[in-house]
Amino acid sequence: MDQTNNKFYQTCNKHSQNQITFLKVISDQRDSSIFYCIDCVNEDLSFKGIEHVLIPQIVSQSEKNIIQKWPPVNDYSILEKLSKEISNENFSISAIQQINNFFEELKVEIIKKIDFCQKKMINQALNLPLGKEQILNKYKEISQIETLKQILGNYQDQFESQEIKCRAFLSEIESKKEENTQQLQNLLEQCQRKKELINFEKSMTIRQSIYTLIDSINFFPNDSNQFNQSNINPLNNQRLSNTQKIIELVSNKSNFCSQEFLEQLRVNQEYLDAIFNQISFENMFQQNKQPIRFQQLNNQKFEEINEYIDHLIKLQNDQIYNQQIQSSELLRKIFQVVDSKINFISSDVKISLKDIFVQIYPLLNKLGVQEIFNSKQEFELVKNISEVMLQDFILILKKKQEINIQNTYHQSISNFIKQQVETKFPLLERNDLDRILLNFPVFDVVKTNKQIDILKNFEMIKTKYNDGNERIQIIKNLNSTCEIFINEQQYFGIFKGQFSNCISSNILENDKKYIFRIQLEVTDQNQHNFYIGLMQKSQSDLISGDEQNLSCKFKKRRGQFEHFIGLGIDQYKKGNKLVYQDNFKFMLELRVWLGGQVLQILDYPKYEYQLELEDKFKNKLIKYDDLCLYLYLFEENRKYIIKEAYQVDQFDF
Ligand SMILES: [Zn+2]
Repeated sequence: MDQTNNKFYQTCNKHSQNQITFLKVISDQRDSSIFYCIDCVNEDLSFKGIEHVLIPQIVSQSEKNIIQKWPPVNDYSILEKLSKEISNENFSISAIQQINNFFEELKVEIIKKIDFCQKKMINQALNLPLGKEQILNKYKEISQIETLKQILGNYQDQFESQEIKCRAFLSEIESKKEENTQQLQNLLEQCQRKKELINFEKSMTIRQSIYTLIDSINFFPNDSNQFNQSNINPLNNQRLSNTQKIIELVSNKSNFCSQEFLEQLRVNQEYLDAIFNQISFENMFQQNKQPIRFQQLNNQKFEEINEYIDHLIKLQNDQIYNQQIQSSELLRKIFQVVDSKINFISSDVKISLKDIFVQIYPLLNKLGVQEIFNSKQEFELVKNISEVMLQDFILILKKKQEINIQNTYHQSISNFIKQQVETKFPLLERNDLDRILLNFPVFDVVKTNKQIDILKNFEMIKTKYNDGNERIQIIKNLNSTCEIFINEQQYFGIFKGQFSNCISSNILENDKKYIFRIQLEVTDQNQHNFYIGLMQKSQSDLISGDEQNLSCKFKKRRGQFEHFIGLGIDQYKKGNKLVYQDNFKFMLELRVWLGGQVLQILDYPKYEYQLELEDKFKNKLIKYDDLCLYLYLFEENRKYIIKEAYQVDQFDF
């Protein structure tokens, strides 16, 4: 550059004695001067230093310095700071120089270290039987063959003396036979194990790593092309570097690595980067798998899992431990609960549940054995009930369900019995009894239809109708059953072969419920009629009982007993057309409850048919106040046997 062209030697227009010193770089008015001498400065009352640059500075210093007032900017501190930066001492040594220094030093140090290591390895190799020469040397040392050669080759000695020396040597060597055998054996083994004695592979890997490390030297952090397959660029925070991935893996809580160790890994991350960047991390994990996220668990849970895994491994490998766990007090108690009959757990599930409890024993153990039952005694009581008892209990519960639907407690028999026979429960407090019978109205469940046997006091009598009193036979047996039939052998009156009435002397009471079981019997194959029902006692000597339409008619013919319509009890509640196949016998049941207008005939004991009084006659049951049992008697070879007579609380259906 031509310096002369850069000199500025103009004199001031106003002050000719002065040279121009300043250039006004910011000019607000076109006509104002841009060149200033010292006096111009003096005279300008609004002179601002920041707007004026020293011309000599522009000329002489711009090569090596920043001109602090040029160019005009909004913030002059930028120029000031820039100026400071280039005046910085460190910057005086160039980066190129630093790079050169770094590599020179590196080469020297590496070569020094390599030399040292090389010598060390060679020394070690020399001590090993790694080649013919070394094996031979070792052999010579052990066998002392050189000494033997010396002895044999010493021609100056007399034959005798040579023989003596030789013998002595042989004897010495002979005495070391054991020792030499051992040493030669070792030598042989060492030769054979040559591959174990020297290994180049590991060091070759180290050599490769050194190359890689050297390749990774980079002074320029922004240079993303340096390692095109790596993510070590610190500006790229989106993805983890390979080393960070490895560190994360190693840091998994389940590895229990110390903080100190992990910190060392982190500190050395940059060295490791160079190594791990050689590895493909794309298939780091098995498909769809990730390390178990133990770090998201709190410490307590994590410790529990650790304990749990120890436990599982022991269960798997140690039969005695397995037995100990299964027979532990805690599990025995829990198994009792599982086994308890009242749980109704299926046997497969029981087995699975027990297995699960064995596996999670460490977690269960935190429960504490004492806390399982709040009343052990009561648990035992329930646990020990028999299967039958349990079934009975369930039966009661089921019946209770039914009863609750049908009845209210106030109508229940249990409530009635409780009030009647309180004294029969002396062991229970009154309040307890109330509550228990309310919860378990057992008397509603059990069959409480108490029947009172009235057969013994039930008397049949003959009526005078058609001279019944002379022809009818009534035989009361020892067991109180009563047989009624016609016997005309001794009768010679006008009503021979006429029908008559047999009635009970007992007048049936309005509010009572009666059951009579009466057998119809024939002793020949003729046709026979039977009428059974009620009639008024006051009419029994005057009319045939069937005229009151409170009876049911059966005809025995052709091997069967059949119902015939017409006498009042003709309405079927169950079945239709009652027919009973038998040549001689038919048992029926008569049910009477006058107050309830009930008069029914059923076949007993099958109850396949149920006949009741026609509705139009039912009011007679309450209108007449002297109704009694009525049987129609006609001809011989047939009879009625009253087998049972009861007064009941209620009819079963
Ligand atoms: Zn001037």
